[in-house]
Amino acid sequence: MPTYVYDFDQGNKDQKDLLGGKGAGLAEMTNLGLPVPPGFTISTDACRAYLAEGAEPAGLEAEVDEHLHTLEERMGRRLGDPDDPLLVSVRSGAKFSMPGMMETVLDVGLNDRSVVGLAEQSGDDRFAADSYRRLLQMFGTTVLGIDGEAFSDRMDAADELDTEQLRMVVEDFKAIIREHTGHDFPQDPREQLRLAIRAVFSSWNTPRAALYRRQEQIPDDLGTAVNIQAMVFGNRGQTSGSGVAFTRDPATGDQGLYGDYLTDAQGEDVVAGIRNTIAIADLAELDRTSYEELLRIMATLEKHYRDMCDLEFTIEDGHLWMLQTRVGKRTAEAAVRIAADMVDEGLIDEDEALRRVTGDQLVALMFPRFAPDPSRQPVTTGMNASPGAAVGKVALDSDTAVAWAERGDDVILVRKETTPDDLHGMVAARGVLTSRGGKTSHAAVVARGMGRTCVCGAEAIRIDLVNRRFEVRGGPTVEEGDVISIDGGTGEVFVGEVPVSDPDVVRRLEGEDVDDPVADAVERLLERADAVRRLAVRANADTPEDAIRARRFGAAGIGLCRTEHMFLGERRGLVEDLIVAEDDAQKEHALTGLEPLQRSDFIEILTAMDGLPVTVRLIDPPLHEFLPDLTDLAVRVALEDERHDEDERDHLMLAAVRRLHEHNPMLGLRGVRIGLVIPGLFDLQARAIAEATAERIAAGGDPRPEIMVPLVASERELALIRAQLEAVVATVAEEQGVALDIPIGTMIELPRAAVTADRIATVADFFSFGTNDLTQTVWGFSRDDVEAAFFPAYRDQGVFPVSPFESLDVEGVGDLVRTAVRLGRSTKPDLHMGVCGEHGGDPASIHFFDEVGLDYVSCSPFRVPVARWEAARAVLGAT
Ligand code: PEP
Ligand code: MG
Repeated sequence: MPTYVYDFDQGNKDQKDLLGGKGAGLAEMTNLGLPVPPGFTISTDACRAYLAEGAEPAGLEAEVDEHLHTLEERMGRRLGDPDDPLLVSVRSGAKFSMPGMMETVLDVGLNDRSVVGLAEQSGDDRFAADSYRRLLQMFGTTVLGIDGEAFSDRMDAADELDTEQLRMVVEDFKAIIREHTGHDFPQDPREQLRLAIRAVFSSWNTPRAALYRRQEQIPDDLGTAVNIQAMVFGNRGQTSGSGVAFTRDPATGDQGLYGDYLTDAQGEDVVAGIRNTIAIADLAELDRTSYEELLRIMATLEKHYRDMCDLEFTIEDGHLWMLQTRVGKRTAEAAVRIAADMVDEGLIDEDEALRRVTGDQLVALMFPRFAPDPSRQPVTTGMNASPGAAVGKVALDSDTAVAWAERGDDVILVRKETTPDDLHGMVAARGVLTSRGGKTSHAAVVARGMGRTCVCGAEAIRIDLVNRRFEVRGGPTVEEGDVISIDGGTGEVFVGEVPVSDPDVVRRLEGEDVDDPVADAVERLLERADAVRRLAVRANADTPEDAIRARRFGAAGIGLCRTEHMFLGERRGLVEDLIVAEDDAQKEHALTGLEPLQRSDFIEILTAMDGLPVTVRLIDPPLHEFLPDLTDLAVRVALEDERHDEDERDHLMLAAVRRLHEHNPMLGLRGVRIGLVIPGLFDLQARAIAEATAERIAAGGDPRPEIMVPLVASERELALIRAQLEAVVATVAEEQGVALDIPIGTMIELPRAAVTADRIATVADFFSFGTNDLTQTVWGFSRDDVEAAFFPAYRDQGVFPVSPFESLDVEGVGDLVRTAVRLGRSTKPDLHMGVCGEHGGDPASIHFFDEVGLDYVSCSPFRVPVARWEAARAVLGAT
């Protein structure tokens, strides 16, 4: 018989799979000797079995009985005993935190008789009545599935009710339960416990929990654990309370404890943001003993976990109890600061710091911020709950936010407070603004987790849902649909659109002298990343400006210089001339016009990247992209004909456009095929590259061009083109009297190229994987059409969690990459290989490219620091 239930002293922090995050944390704290109310955890195995079978697995009931008995012995009280009842909380806790998404039931064990015992034992009638009221309400909604409004309509503010009134509410709540379910509230404490456990199991599959998992990419088959723990009460008057705290500031990473406390309240009240909390530092004045003990516990936990922790605690009548701890969620900014600070504090080394901060977090730090402007005045300031700069139209509920975002608007979701039911609105919005709640409120926690900008607790805001607007005390009224800007770094709220600028991290990477601890931490850890990583990082850059920026960001050259832009703009006319040319002389004329222009382009890029490799890819796109649109041209020619005003060039062009028209241009005349069918274009480019190189050498430079041929499928294609290109380079070398050594390689971006890579390698000096086209051709997905058309439906149905154009499909496309690497190196063991598709800047894909042994990744200049970072994390085994 498998074991399903574990006492807290039987587990530890590394058992999150089995015990969930909360269960593992409670076990760890118990074993550290911290004050944890005793209890036990039902494992995720049991949940999975329950969800699969629709019933408790055999043996679970008996195990729960046994552990409950141990708990009763330890507490010296029996569950629901009429004279002196043991009460328990029943809480969910999955492997990955899913704040507020699943169920909790408190005060299990109360009934018509034990409520009297609780009143007598505590000497507090009101507290007992209010606890029973809470149980009926939570049980009614979460276990029995009654709409929460049925209860909240009956009772607005429990704070203001006296004992007699609360007793009347209790009777009314029992009546509501009878009315909605046809049964009485179960008086048997063990029955209450059984039903509460089932409700927690089932809450794994609620739509909001499923949506949250999809958003956070948490697997659907993990299930939740259930924690059953002796109740401690934060709602026993002014000497009691509940709090949520972080051992450092989760928004900025600043040192010092951080959190919210609410007197005479249970934990749920703090997180819900229903009443405004006090800062945890103020607890020192209310209850110095508990405050100091809390400080000691926090120091113990940080040392033990060697990381920033968050925790939930309750003070019952001056007694501190720990209810939860785990490694805390934090913003990107805080993540990098905390990691670097902990290196200084000797808690971790730099490699561990790198493991802890993801490339995605670095990306978040590089996003634009509001440009500083001292004259700009916020209309109000709330709490800086999750950083970033967000601009958008005010939407006052989540459905509106989603609807507007779907039609392409940027939206700021503005709510009094958010609940787990607002998740879809938060996903759709650029940012979230709330008028209630602290940095540990639902809005703040979830927004930080998603990397969404959030300002919370902006108390000057009063939302008027009837008239669809909000008023700022002493300030303007903002209608739904008006544009506002919120700064999650400062908490400031502005009416209208505020311009954005680069953050300090980017300015530092650009070489500016900025005074910013986050920039310091990033720079320091990037230095370490460079020492650790095996992969080189190049940039995809087509212009000198991009090349210069990429170099400042640490690129070791250009891995992909696309050349198509060199045929656009004013040069388009020459390309058209070339395509409609009727004889060699006309063709030659067009080519001679284009060559010097291209040469100067290459000179500039080779200058910007002097001393570093520049992989120039010859022209790739289908030729029709350089020609007028077929329909427009046909209409023009028809009109001209009608007016008897014929234009010979238009006629020639129309004929050429018709001739070159393709039904599937991405699978048509492009890449190497252009080189073989219209030889002049590739020759022209090779000449321009060779002449630019000769000129840079003559000027004392160190140019290192490489020529890359796109869309090669067979050895023969490359062999033919290679001979042609080598002849051009040799001619230029002779004309200029310089030695020109320009490697010629190929992209591997077609399945046929991948599976014949051993043959292609015989005529290639290097490979560069074009994973954009490779993904397109392996899946048979049109790059330009499918992402918007049906990928959302594919993601919803779990075909893939992210678009394979964003993150490499390791099983399919990756398998071909692996094959091509093996085959290529079987021909040439030292064959130099890189990747230049978009995946070169994607964290997960970079780990794969490191694993298969590529020499470099090439990505957009902005992504270069991220690629340096992730290449190191790959070596360090981080995920
Ligand atoms: C590729 O296909 O991955 C690639 C880099 O080329 P392009 O995106 O220009 O087709
Ligand atoms: Mg391509």
